[in-house]
Amino acid sequence: MADFLIIGAGIGGLTTAHALLQQGHRVQVFEAAPELREVGAGLVLGANAMRALHQLQLDAAVLPLGSPVTRLDLRDQQGRLLQAADTTPFTTRLGFPNLGIHRAALQQILLQSLPPDTLTLGCPFEHLETDAGGVTAHFADGRTMRADALIAADGIRSGVRRQLLPTATPRYAGYTCWRAVVDASSLQLPVGESCETWGERGRRFGYVPVGNGQVYWFACLNSPEPQNPKFRNYRTMDLQREFAGFHAPIPELLALTRDEQLLWNDILDVKPLSHFAFGRSLLLGDAAHATTPNLGQGAGMAVEDAAVLAQCLSESTDVAHAFRRFELRRRSRTTRVVTTSWYLGQVGQLESPLLTKLRNTAMRLLPPAVSRSQMAWLYDEL
Ligand SMILES: Cc1cc2nc3c(=O)[nH]c(=O)nc-3n(C[C@H](O)[C@H](O)[C@H](O)COP(=O)(O)OP(=O)(O)OC[C@H]3O[C@@H](n4cnc5c(N)ncnc54)[C@H](O)[C@@H]3O)c2cc1C
Repeated sequence: MADFLIIGAGIGGLTTAHALLQQGHRVQVFEAAPELREVGAGLVLGANAMRALHQLQLDAAVLPLGSPVTRLDLRDQQGRLLQAADTTPFTTRLGFPNLGIHRAALQQILLQSLPPDTLTLGCPFEHLETDAGGVTAHFADGRTMRADALIAADGIRSGVRRQLLPTATPRYAGYTCWRAVVDASSLQLPVGESCETWGERGRRFGYVPVGNGQVYWFACLNSPEPQNPKFRNYRTMDLQREFAGFHAPIPELLALTRDEQLLWNDILDVKPLSHFAFGRSLLLGDAAHATTPNLGQGAGMAVEDAAVLAQCLSESTDVAHAFRRFELRRRSRTTRVVTTSWYLGQVGQLESPLLTKLRNTAMRLLPPAVSRSQMAWLYDEL
C-alpha cells in the first residue's frame, strides 16, 4: 500500500481520495480554500459518470441528491425544436441515469463520507520535488509533506501543472457565461426535461433540473476579450434584456433569479496535453483535461478518472507504472471530449445571421442516429 498526496478537494480530488482509501492506500488531501462553501451551480453527471461512481460505491449516496434527466432538447430562440434526444434507452441499457445535481451537494456528500483526518483546508500547494524514493510537496504556509506519489486535482489553473508543463495555460473560448440555481417549483417544468437554446447573435441559454424543484440555468454571450468590464457589471436585469423574446421558460427563470445568485465566468479549457503522468506525479480532472462545458462532462471526466486510476493501481504495485497506464487509458477519450466540446461551443455561439440560419436548418435535418452515436461514445465507453 502506498502514501498519496492529493492536491485539491474538488470533485476529482475527493472522488479519487475515496477510490484510493477503498484500496487501502493512505491518502492526504490538501485544499487551498479555507472552507468548502456552497460554491458552483449545477452539474450534469452523465450515465457514464454515474457508472464510474457505482464502481467506487458512491452512486447510492449521490443519486437521492439529484434529479434524473431523461430528455435533452435543442431549440431555437422561438422555441422551435432543432433536436430532441431521449436518453432513456442508454440509461436503461447501462442501468444508470443522467443526473442533474448541485455541485455543492455533490462535493459535500463526497466530503462527509471521508474519514475526518483526510482533508487539510486552507493549505495552498506551492511546488513539488521528486527523488528516487518519493515526492515532497511544499505548501504556502511553509509546511512540507512527503509521500510515495502525488495526484494533482487542483483544477483548470493547476499549480502542479504549471510546474510540470509551464506552457500549458488555459485558453479562452471567446464567450462568457452566467449561471444560477433557482427554485423553479412554481414553473411546473416537465419532469426530467433539460433544454439548450441556440439563439441569434451568439446568445445561448440552457437549463437542467437539479432536484427539489431547483433548476440550474446558464446563459452565454460572446465577448472578444476575457474579463470584459462591460459584463463584469451585468446583473439579472441585463440578462433579461439580452434574452428578451426568448421562449418560455427562459424569461421566467431569469425573473426568479436574484442578483446575488449569479455566478459569472469566462469559458476556458486547456488544449489537450500529451502527458498526464510524470513519474510519481499525476494530473487528474480539470488539471489534466479541463474542457469547455458544452458536453456537460467536466465533472464526469473527473469521476471516470478516479475509477480508472483505481483499476490501474489495482493492477500494478509500481505507482509510476500505474500512472502511465492511466495516461494511456484516459488520453484519447478526454482529448475527444475537450475537442468535441470546443467545436460544439463555436457552433452554438455563431454570430452571423446567415450562418445561424444554416446551422439551425442543419440541426433540424440531422438524423437522430447522429445524436444517438454521439451519446453512445459518451455514455458507453470508459
Ligand atoms: C468553485 C468551483 C465551482 C464550479 N462550479 C461548476 C458548476 O457550477 N458547473 C460545472 O459544470 N462545473 C463547475 N466547476 C467545474 C467542475 O466542478 C469541474 O470541471 C469538475 O468537477 C472537475 O473537477 P476537478 O476536481 O478536477 O477541479 P475543480 O472542481 O476545479 O477543483 C479543484 C480544487 O483544487 C483547489 N485548488 C486549486 N489550486 C490549489 C492549490 N494551489 N493548492 C490546493 N488546492 C488547490 C480548488 O480550490 C478546488 O477546490 C466548478 C469548479 C470550481 C472550483
